[in-house]
Amino acid sequence: MADKRYLIDIRKEFPLLVARPGLVYLDNAATTQKPAAVLDTERAFYEEADANIHRGIYALSEEASDRYERAREKVARFLNAPSAENIVFTAGATDSINLVAHSWGLANLERGDEILLTPLEHHANIVPWQQVAKQTGAKVVFCGLKEDFTLDVDDLKRRITPKTGLLAITQVSNVLGIATPLSEIIPYAKQRGVTVLVDGAQGAPHLKTDVQALGCDFYAFSGHKMLAPTGIGVLYVAEQHRSMQPYRTGGDMIEDVTEQGAEFAPLAPRRLEAGTPHIAGAVGLGAAIDYLESIGMDAIHQHEAALLKKAWHALSRIPDVTLLGPAPENDPLFSSRSAVVSFTVEGIHPHDVAQLLDDEGVCIRVGKHCAHPLHARMKVAATNRASFYLYNTEQDIDALVAALRHAIEVFR
Ligand code: PMP
Repeated sequence: MADKRYLIDIRKEFPLLVARPGLVYLDNAATTQKPAAVLDTERAFYEEADANIHRGIYALSEEASDRYERAREKVARFLNAPSAENIVFTAGATDSINLVAHSWGLANLERGDEILLTPLEHHANIVPWQQVAKQTGAKVVFCGLKEDFTLDVDDLKRRITPKTGLLAITQVSNVLGIATPLSEIIPYAKQRGVTVLVDGAQGAPHLKTDVQALGCDFYAFSGHKMLAPTGIGVLYVAEQHRSMQPYRTGGDMIEDVTEQGAEFAPLAPRRLEAGTPHIAGAVGLGAAIDYLESIGMDAIHQHEAALLKKAWHALSRIPDVTLLGPAPENDPLFSSRSAVVSFTVEGIHPHDVAQLLDDEGVCIRVGKHCAHPLHARMKVAATNRASFYLYNTEQDIDALVAALRHAIEVFR
């Protein structure tokens, strides 16, 4: 791997952050800004190699196919997948989970089966399973949370029974940033014959992830949350599922089509990628991976951990602010946690907080963050969420804290 670059002055490599020097962008759990290296690589694809893939015999199409397939290899290395053949490009994490729900879920789940979820899930890892349950007669079951909103692992294990067909679980909560103990849960589930899907949308961008060590069947993430363009995502498919039924059908995923029917390509990725994919987006994702690896996932994670500790402690000193989830020092899974803090302010609606912060150039997210069941369990109507990434600095936290103190003053 290339020499690690220290995380300093990185903002100058992000054109949007350069163009808006006063902006304090703290909505990275929603989407991230893109470095020039990613934008340039995507543009270079269109300027130098634009053609459809896997089709033309001509050199330009071969060049386009090469760039697309090289990106797949980069993703495989990034996740430590056994091979590029285990990597399916999708439109994003939502699309990846829908693919599994329709391809694997409809074919393998039936009445009497249970789909086990956690209350930490994003809607993307709940609603497709509710739909599968409706269609198959299977039942969606949620495990419990502890008082600090971390996963009740004993309860989750108790709910794994011979009826459990699937465990679909997030790696990191998009609301609280807390991690789930996958290295404990996945072997437990696999030993009992349960298929496991991991929603890595908030994990892959922040943590070194090894899908073989995890031992999951499926792992989903979105490019745009890790510096890549929107509209490109990934589904890792373990070897034994590469022949699962396709979700979408059409061009490129077939061996032959007659007027009577079609013979599909036997294995993923071809079998599961119908039609023209987001070629330039995949190439951009490859560039984003190069960029992240040039810094080093461990360095990024350490940087985020330091920001999280500072943000947590600075915010917890503001009267009337309640932070949700365990404090960093009380979190045994802190080493896998992402830099996300969610909070409420006594007597001020989260929307008013976010509006007043925006007036000072601080972008945070407000609402239920596509996690209504988690908000119901936490018994809060909505939260404010600040989420950090590699280009955020301690100054950003100072700006957040100052703007929040000011907002509270104004409101009072
Ligand atoms: N899962 C989690 C944990 C997420 O945070 C998100 C995005 N907020 C998704 C899934 C869905 O990602 P996308 O909208 O990119 O498909």
